[in-house]
Amino acid sequence: MRRKILLNMYNIKTSEEPNLPPIPSIGDVLTRKKNFIEYKYTVLKCSSCNNKVERNFIEGDYIFKKLEGKPCEKCSNTQFIIIEIYSTYKKEKNDKI
Ligand SMILES: [Zn+2]
Repeated sequence: MRRKILLNMYNIKTSEEPNLPPIPSIGDVLTRKKNFIEYKYTVLKCSSCNNKVERNFIEGDYIFKKLEGKPCEKCSNTQFIIIEIYSTYKKEKNDKI
């Protein structure tokens, strides 16, 4: 079990690489990076009904990690699997536009 977890960690899609998810104003992000903060989020999938849920990335998250305890909004199942982890940049101020 422990070995499997280590293998799965290599699948994390974080953004040390230039292949970030599409961002509308990537040019602005690169030239004015001071005003942006890195924002990671995790996509969970309900293991029962496949409902997808996003939440903030939490340290220790990795692809295929199983989570428990947070009831699914659609079927009340409490088991989820992390299927995607994204990283993007968010404007530090004025992000309520
Ligand atoms: Zn569900």
